[in-house]
Amino acid sequence: MKAVNVKQPGGAEQLQVKEFSKPLPKQGEILIKVNAAAVNRTDIVNREGKSGYNTNPILGIEVAGEVVDVASDVNIEKGTRVMGLVNGGAYAEYAVMPADRAMIIPDNLSFEEAAAIPEVFLTAYQTLFWLGGLTDEDTVLIHAGGSGVGTAAIQLAKQLTKAKIITTAGSAEKLDYCRSLGADVCINYKEESFPEEVLKATNDQGADLILDFIGASYWEKNLQSICTDGRWILIGVLGGTEVEKVNLMQLMLKRVQLKGTLLTPRSDEYKQQLTQDFSEHVLPLIQENKIKPIIDKIFKLEDVQEAHKHMEENKNIGKIILRIDE
Ligand code: NAP
Repeated sequence: MKAVNVKQPGGAEQLQVKEFSKPLPKQGEILIKVNAAAVNRTDIVNREGKSGYNTNPILGIEVAGEVVDVASDVNIEKGTRVMGLVNGGAYAEYAVMPADRAMIIPDNLSFEEAAAIPEVFLTAYQTLFWLGGLTDEDTVLIHAGGSGVGTAAIQLAKQLTKAKIITTAGSAEKLDYCRSLGADVCINYKEESFPEEVLKATNDQGADLILDFIGASYWEKNLQSICTDGRWILIGVLGGTEVEKVNLMQLMLKRVQLKGTLLTPRSDEYKQQLTQDFSEHVLPLIQENKIKPIIDKIFKLEDVQEAHKHMEENKNIGKIILRIDE
């Protein structure tokens, strides 16, 4: 089968489509003929050889496709349309996945739309609700509102709670889109001071919950933007990993609860439980078109270098998809 691997750790030019042998489903697994995969920031970190947790030579962590084979202990019919997280190996014609975390694709979704769901929606669901404990009374600050995870988080917060949603992004186009998804307050972080705007929007109290994809460069501003007893979930480090000066007193005074998380290296059991909870509470809303996968652009697998560059140029609103043609 054809699949994408990395010649040498480095830039997008290091990605190549190569022949690999088809994987075999082990106990508890299904084999999927992949119709679409999606690009994630973790794939870029893996491409650069910087993650430290990648074990699969084939890139990619999420797929949508058709079940073509199952292990003897698995009870899923061949031909079933499924989507979900794989342990690497998504940018390929075939991939294996633990059967207990395969989600049946709702009838109203194409394979490309389905591939836009697993990683960003599961991450947004996990960080808003499992880790962030979002409630109706909260104000949530969602950074990078136009990102894959950001567009998922805005929709989930809107559809599952009455929380007030504040978001930041770097262009008017992205902010307009965030508004259309349900964001109440939209801040252009390149033109405005987001802490000032957050305080204005919260009666000087600050946000109860922050989804932080940015890290170091937002450290001080997030501290100004969070309320006393606020929850701060660190999900990404697009703005760097090292904070120059940290005043721990400020964290203590505000009694900030800061949690870091990474979904990809979590256990199969954790991903199965998260997928199950998400399937119960969110898939019905997707079926009813109340929540939708957001696709920015679809690339052919052969154009994977372009797809990675597109993400690294911060051009996308929502997801970048790879279509795998026969
Ligand atoms: P994405 O679609 O590529 O969007 C990222 C956006 O962030 C960019 O388009 C850009 O939009 C903004 N951005 C980039 N660098 C920035 C900076 N230095 N300062 C401010 N904004 C910046 O990303 P994604 O796939 O949704 O992922 C979003 C983040 O979540 C990434 O950091 C990713 O690693 C992380 N993530 C974490 C987990 C986890 O389990 N921890 C799981 C999935 C994703 P603007 O035009 O608005 O600047």
